[in-house]
Amino acid sequence: MPSPLNASIPAPPDAQDRRAVPPVICYPADSLPMPDAAWIKGLRADLTKISETLVPPREAACFKVPAGHVFRITSTEGPQVGDLNLWNADDLSERFYSGKTRALHGTHITTGHGMWSSFPHLRPMAHVIHDTLGWYGIDAFGGSVHDVIGTRCDPYTHNLLSDGGQYHHCCHSNLTRVLANETGLPLQAAEAHVHDVLNVFMCTGFTRDTGQYFMKASPVRPGDYIEFFAEIDLLGGLSACPGGDCSAEHSSDSAACYPLLVEVFAPAETGDWTPPEPNGYDRTHGVD
Ligand SMILES: [Zn+2]
Repeated sequence: MPSPLNASIPAPPDAQDRRAVPPVICYPADSLPMPDAAWIKGLRADLTKISETLVPPREAACFKVPAGHVFRITSTEGPQVGDLNLWNADDLSERFYSGKTRALHGTHITTGHGMWSSFPHLRPMAHVIHDTLGWYGIDAFGGSVHDVIGTRCDPYTHNLLSDGGQYHHCCHSNLTRVLANETGLPLQAAEAHVHDVLNVFMCTGFTRDTGQYFMKASPVRPGDYIEFFAEIDLLGGLSACPGGDCSAEHSSDSAACYPLLVEVFAPAETGDWTPPEPNGYDRTHGVD
C-alpha cells in the first residue's frame, strides 16, 4: 500500500520494468476436488428439511449439520450480512481457515468452492453448492460477494479505532457467547475457538489506488440464499452482523439489521460422495 513515509525513497531506473512483470497464480486450484453440476443437481433434487434456526439481528446462533447433509443460509426480511464460523463437531481444533481458502479460491467464494479447515487437517469442511448471488461476479469497483478477506467485526478493533469504545454485539462477541452456550465452555475459553469467518452476502474488495479493504451495500435481497454441502460433521456459528448490509459501519446499533435463516436438509442420495480423508502430510517436518 502507498505510504507517505516512502515519499523520499527514489525509484530505480528499471522501476517500470519491474512493475511490468506479469503475475502468476500462487495456487492453481484446478486439481482440487470440486462437486460437478450433475452431482449437485442430483443432490438438490430431493432434500428433506431436518432443522431450522433463526439467527436474530445483532446476535448469533449455533447449528449442527451431519456429514453428507446440506445447509442453507437465507436472507429474510432485508439485506443482511452473516459471519459464519465452522468447526468439526467432534473437535473444535479443526476449524475453518479463511486465509487458506482465500489463497486457494480467491477473495470471495461461490458455487463449487470449498471451505477449508485449519492445519494439520486442511481438507474441505463444506462446499458451496448453490448461490443465488452467483450472477454478481466482480463489479466495477473490484467488489464481490461472500468475502474471505475480512476477519469478523470485533470489539478489540472497535476499541482501538473509537477511542476506547466498548461494544458487545460485534460478530466476534456474538459468536463467543453462543459457542460458550453450546459447548458449556467458559466464555474466554470459547472465545479462543472463534476464528476468521466467511462473510456471507458481504460485498467487499480492495481499492485500486490505496489497496484498502472496502465494503459496500450488499446486493442480497430477501429470499436470496447460499447453500453448502457438509463434508464432515459440522458445528456452525452464524452471526447476523451489527453492520446490517454493511453499507456504512460496523460496531454500533445504528444500521438496520434483519434475521438470517439457517436450514439443514437431508438429501435422498449423495451419489458417489465419500467424506474427505485427513490431510496426507506426515507431520515429521523433516525430523527423523
Ligand atoms: Zn460483523
